[in-house]
Amino acid sequence: VLAGRTALITGSTSGIGQGIAMMYAKAGARVMLNGFGKPKEIARARAEVGAAMGGGDAPYSAADLSKPEAVRQMVKDAEAALGSVDILVNNAGIQFVAPVDEFPEDKFDAIIAINFTSNFHAIKAALPGMKARGWGRIVNIASAHGLVASPNKSAYVSAKHAVVGLTKTVALEIARTPITCNAICPGFVRTPLAEAQVGPLAKQHGVSEEAALKDLLLEHQPSKRWIEVEEVAQMALYLVGPNSGGVNGSALSIDGGWFAS
Ligand code: NAD
Repeated sequence: VLAGRTALITGSTSGIGQGIAMMYAKAGARVMLNGFGKPKEIARARAEVGAAMGGGDAPYSAADLSKPEAVRQMVKDAEAALGSVDILVNNAGIQFVAPVDEFPEDKFDAIIAINFTSNFHAIKAALPGMKARGWGRIVNIASAHGLVASPNKSAYVSAKHAVVGLTKTVALEIARTPITCNAICPGFVRTPLAEAQVGPLAKQHGVSEEAALKDLLLEHQPSKRWIEVEEVAQMALYLVGPNSGGVNGSALSIDGGWFAS
């Protein structure tokens, strides 16, 4: 369904971003990857996504999304490597947890820059090309924390709420064009980073890993199960596919009932 389309996916060297890159590549898109990681991990991601695109390594940008100039350059590099950026997925993100009166200022600024401000710079840089070609899809990976709050996550919750606000505003500005802008709001997704929180939580509270997962990490996720990366990637595929042109400015929850509770 994505034959002939091109996609730039930020933070796609692991987790959700890599899952979306694989899903798009298998659907026929040509994809550019971005993100940090050990050289071996980046090489593996490029080879895997490249194989799904029919061979060779997938193009890759090492842009540090905390730097606006690097975000702009990444979009230019993607347009040069792929010929266009038809689809932009703003996915890169980091987390830090502390009470607001103890929150390190540099960590707060970094989370806002990477999780939120980079989305603005990437959209601003990619939109003119989409308008010129008369088609485009912007998918912002927000979070359940784009719609509700949890304690000790002031930077992350602020950034993700801002992503939802930016999504709605851009959607209104492009409402009469064949371009859409939507957000996905996942609950806890089974990625190596999220899974790694279970063991320490179990130790800290002196409970089994199963109890730590259900009662502590997934406290607010009524399904009491992980969302899988493939499930998020399927939603991201729908949003850029042929039948989603009427979906614009939405914040789509995929959270096992969290936002409903
Ligand atoms: P992850 O850590 O596996 O992936 C994050 C990606 O972002 C990596 O590729 C990393 O290298 C990249 N990245 C980090 N800082 C960067 C920077 N400065 N410049 C460029 N790339 C950078 O995490 P994930 O769980 O796959 O999360 C992906 C997105 O989904 C994030 O925005 C996260 O907030 C969101 N999300 C995750 C969950 C979850 O439970 N895993 C839930 C809701 C939302």
